[in-house]
Amino acid sequence: MSPRRGSHRKVLVTAGPTRERIDPVRYLSNDSSGVMGFAIAEAARAAGHEVVLVAGPVELATPKGVRRVDVESAREMLAAVRKAFTDCDALFMAAAVCDFRPARRFRGKWREKDAGQERASLELVSNPDILASVTRRKGDRLVVGFALETGDGLRRAKNKLKKKRMDYVVLNGPSALNASRTSVTILGRDGSQRRLTDRTKRAVAKVLVGLRSPDEGR
Ligand code: C5P
Repeated sequence: MSPRRGSHRKVLVTAGPTRERIDPVRYLSNDSSGVMGFAIAEAARAAGHEVVLVAGPVELATPKGVRRVDVESAREMLAAVRKAFTDCDALFMAAAVCDFRPARRFRGKWREKDAGQERASLELVSNPDILASVTRRKGDRLVVGFALETGDGLRRAKNKLKKKRMDYVVLNGPSALNASRTSVTILGRDGSQRRLTDRTKRAVAKVLVGLRSPDEGR
């Protein structure tokens, strides 16, 4: 992404997991540390852009000069992303959004144990797809998403790229979770493919922030 002539660009980054409440003390979540998204926010700021970072619950310090909006659930993240998306030039969607949330949130503790049964089940409902939702009005924004896949995820990642109208998808594996180094394949809407092996997340972030929309310069 090149700085606009005479001004910098507004970059929106999401990071970390979402947390989907079961009751006041329990939730569903995942192992995302937020490191990749925070590294992107830091790299974008270092490149001179204005940065809004929508963060799920993580234990990370806010990079200097970055505006941080803390959220907990996928629905809260959707609202924050929608708000900031309208006037941003680029979205990096690094958050690991929970696909499902409990169908109901108990006001008191979930007391299934008290019934004395050995099995219990929680009904889940699907969360909104944040990327797919905001890219309906993508315009000429640069949109970069992630796909964390086990095994050969190339086909799945390509499907997500298309279905969620991204410009690029960053394919990585479960070893990226909670790690400082990562290996990724960056797949472009234009068919481009770039592999980065065993790099720090900071180094990957720098490459991502330098991506240009496949339409740029056409
Ligand atoms: O979870 P999935 O592999 O589909 O994630 C692909 C991309 O979509 C990621 O960039 C993720 O942040 C985004 N996503 C989203 N809303 C969801 C699930 C995923 O924006 N509910």
